[in-house]
Order: sequence, then C-alpha cells, then structure tokens
Amino acid sequence: MTIFIDDQNELHVDYQGITLTCPHCQTLTHVTAVAVPKFDELSRRQPRHVGIVFRCDACGEPVFLKFVARGYGPKRIELAGNYVEIERARENFPLTYLPEEAEGLFKEALTCYTAGCYNAFGAMSRRTAQSLFRELGERGKLDLFDTLQEIRELAELDDDSFGTLRAVLFGSDSDPWPCCSR
Ligand SMILES: [Zn+2]
Repeated sequence: MTIFIDDQNELHVDYQGITLTCPHCQTLTHVTAVAVPKFDELSRRQPRHVGIVFRCDACGEPVFLKFVARGYGPKRIELAGNYVEIERARENFPLTYLPEEAEGLFKEALTCYTAGCYNAFGAMSRRTAQSLFRELGERGKLDLFDTLQEIRELAELDDDSFGTLRAVLFGSDSDPWPCCSR
C-alpha cells in the first residue's frame, strides 16, 4: 500500500483505501482521514511515527492509527503501509455455552488479545483450558484435543503453529517455556 502526506497536508492512500473493523460499531468499513499532521511541522521534527485521526465511514466515530514514517522528502512524507490501531475492535465470541468460570477467564484472554498483549493472551488461554479440563474431566480433555485436531485441519495450520497451540493449551504450568516445547 502506498501512503504519503503531500506538501499541501493531504493524505494519499492508494485506490483501496484503508479498511478495518471499527472499534466503535464493529463494522468492517472504510475510514476517511479527518486530522492529518501538518507537512511542515512533520518535516521539521521528523518523528519516527505519525499519528492520523480517521473517521469511520459507517458510524462517524474517530479511529486513531499510527504509522511508521518511512522517508521525509521535499514534496512528500512516505508512511509504511502497515499501521497500529490505537483502539482495536473487541473480539466477539458467543460465550453463553461456557461454564461461568471459563467464560470469565476467556473474556480476560480476549481483552489481552485486543490490547496486543499476546503472551498474556496465551497465559489466559491456558487458564481457560485448565478450567475447562477441571469441569469436563479426562474424557472432556480428550474431546477438546480432538477439537484442536479438527481446527488444525480446518485452518490448515502448519506443524509449528499447531505445536505452539497444543503446548499453550495442553502443556503443564511446570514447563517454563511452553511455546518452545514440542
Ligand atoms: Zn464505526
């Protein structure tokens, strides 16, 4: 994606524009730039990151994105195509079928994921799995393992990703580096 700010303070994004899931209305939608930092100001200070405020085209609420500045030229400031969403949409899962304890743990896991705290997400996912194992017993644990195998096929997971998932969910807490064990 080509994206830059020109010397008239205008943001240019290639024809596809920016599409994301709005953190306010949860719609997959285009966003429109409403507040772009001034070209002169950026050129003078040359920050490594540039923050831009967009408006969700669906609900009109503000969406904040942060870009890495790739280069400062005399006529344009190039930004990297990938960006950080300062506020991310919450992941929504139907949770009503979960036992109360597992539901609480899994909600916390999703909050970690939304915040981009992936190690914390892994740890809370394991807590969720442990709570389910206790609730369902050995038989239930085997069923969940079968379910993970099905997910592996459905999602076409490679061996490394599957190994990590299995270690996070079924590994033991006494293993200090679950993500590295196979
Ligand atoms: Zn929205």
